Amino acid sequence: MHKLEIKNSSKIFRKDNKDFYALKDTSLQIKEGSFVSIIGPSGCGKSTLFNIIAGLIKPSTGEVLLDGKDIVGKNGYVGYMLQKDLLLPWRTIMHNVILGLEIKGISKKEAISQAAPLLERYGLGGFENHYPDELSGGMRQRAALLRTLLYDQDIILLDEPFGALDAQTRLLMQEWLLQIWVDFKKTILFITHDIDEAIFLSDDIYILTQRPGTIKEKVTIPLARPRNEQTLLSPEFIDLKEHVLKQLKTEE
Ligand code: ADP
Ligand code: MG
Repeated sequence: MHKLEIKNSSKIFRKDNKDFYALKDTSLQIKEGSFVSIIGPSGCGKSTLFNIIAGLIKPSTGEVLLDGKDIVGKNGYVGYMLQKDLLLPWRTIMHNVILGLEIKGISKKEAISQAAPLLERYGLGGFENHYPDELSGGMRQRAALLRTLLYDQDIILLDEPFGALDAQTRLLMQEWLLQIWVDFKKTILFITHDIDEAIFLSDDIYILTQRPGTIKEKVTIPLARPRNEQTLLSPEFIDLKEHVLKQLKTEE
């Protein structure tokens, strides 16, 4: 397990000949094995923050530390499911799920033997040889998530994975994800717009301000686990929701 720290990270982009901050002085401390959500207005720099953590872009200032070691600009240390991370329509579900393993150089046969029990256990059994457009939105997202998990990093970044799903499917997917998180003992960083989702899933929520995004507040969620539909109706949940809503409202 690894400890992740983002220290005073800022990102300046250039658009229409003008420099602007997409992210400003952002610091996060991510405990090993925790579930942490990032919530904030659209365009405040959430995806930019993930791109920095994943080493896809370099921050203009600041550090990304993994167990104290600087990993700025280095990729391969975290699993990353991008916003709109789509399955390849011409590959079957199995062949989509094993993509990361193939990229790592693992043989197709070995990759399939690793993936098969996961597909079975996590609700995709019997769909291995189907193509993505034959599956529901929720099932496609499960496949995309399993693909990210199989890449086998301790720290997983998920950028609004359930954004396009209807409310009912979403709740099922959230419970499914919590099960995965428990089974695999991963550290998960999760971007969402949805306050209920953030509270339901997380140990900690970082609320970002509007652009340029910076940490407005870190909210710790003391709700007992395992959480289920009842959790959503508890007075503690409602109180937390009121608090987060108020903090976000001043940002809209
Ligand atoms: P969020 O994910 O919170 O909606 P983003 O991190 O995607 O926000 O973007 C933050 C801001 O930075 C937006 O104004 C966006 O248009 C801008 N931006 C993102 N990536 C780039 C880039 N590569 N070049 C220029 N501007 C960018
Ligand atoms: Mg985004």
